[in-house]
Amino acid sequence: MSPHRPHPELSVVVPVFNEGENVEALIARLIPVLENTVSTFEVLFVDDGSRDDTAERISRAASADSRIRAVLFSRNFGKEIALAAGLDHAYGRAVVLIDADLQHPPETIAKFVAKWREGYDMVYGQRVDRSADGPLRRWFTEKFYTLFARFGETPLPPGAGDYRLMDRKVVEALRRLGERARFSKGLYAWVGFKSVGVPFEVAERLHGSSKWGYRQLTRFAFDGLSSFSTLPLKLATYIGVGISIFAFTYAIAMAMRTIFFGADVPGFPSLIVSVMFLSGIQLVFLGVIGEYVGRIFAEVKRRPLYIVAEEIGGRSRGENRLASPQAEAAPASPSIP
Ligand code: UDP
Ligand code: MG
Repeated sequence: MSPHRPHPELSVVVPVFNEGENVEALIARLIPVLENTVSTFEVLFVDDGSRDDTAERISRAASADSRIRAVLFSRNFGKEIALAAGLDHAYGRAVVLIDADLQHPPETIAKFVAKWREGYDMVYGQRVDRSADGPLRRWFTEKFYTLFARFGETPLPPGAGDYRLMDRKVVEALRRLGERARFSKGLYAWVGFKSVGVPFEVAERLHGSSKWGYRQLTRFAFDGLSSFSTLPLKLATYIGVGISIFAFTYAIAMAMRTIFFGADVPGFPSLIVSVMFLSGIQLVFLGVIGEYVGRIFAEVKRRPLYIVAEEIGGRSRGENRLASPQAEAAPASPSIP
């Protein structure tokens, strides 16, 4: 990579979607923390297709401070993908992911860095309570994580979210995972490495409202479960086996009854009920399989994860972005001096 701009010690990646009101406040709180914590740093905004003045405000900040950079998406691709783009474009020897709405207190970064210097490769923030979310959302979140802990194939540390620090090694490992349906919390856990949690209090959102509606959250939950568990598919097998055993016993009972007591015609309602029940089950599992097939389709199309419309304050254009993560993933040294 270009010699005239060495790798900063730390990159802070901030995904932003219509966060115009929060940009300056975030920068104002973030920069002093970084100046006191690390020798060199960059703040990399990933603008996820904002439709407000987020991009203008970032570019104003970037022209005032060369440590601020930005990647602007051509449209909204979602937070998970914005984070992936952040990892692709960050140059730091460690990368911190942080929300733009100041729900993640920037001061915690100092603790992250301290742990990193102790030798941990991944330092994740653990939210001590979720009172900043509504009660219904909290309920769903809790149920989802219980489900995931029970059936997911990768255990997730409790309360860990996207607010975390990752060493360059971890970043390179994550960049090799080219999945489209990105459930980062699962991916972070999947790559492993020496990890430690640091508790932090989730603050209220500074301005605006959460960008996650229940529809997005449901989609996100299914992405998470389907990419880290095949339970929904196995369920079809289990239920199918159960019903078959029941049907078989029932058939034997019927045969016995016919042999010993002769045949009679009644049984029409039970016939209808069982036919409807079974077609219902079949449709449900067809749907489940369909969800998986849809995800497989999305993966095999191999579209790029995101499209960058513009870069602000970057180096030579496209340097990081055009090479596919697979081709670039050199096993030994990830181009860090
Ligand atoms: N975000 C994004 N793309 C989206 C939705 C959200 O980049 O499609 C960003 C958003 O700007 C914020 C972070 O992701 O910096 C967290 O979003 P939000 O606060 O809405 O989520 P919550 O805190 O409710 O989980
Ligand atoms: Mg938030």
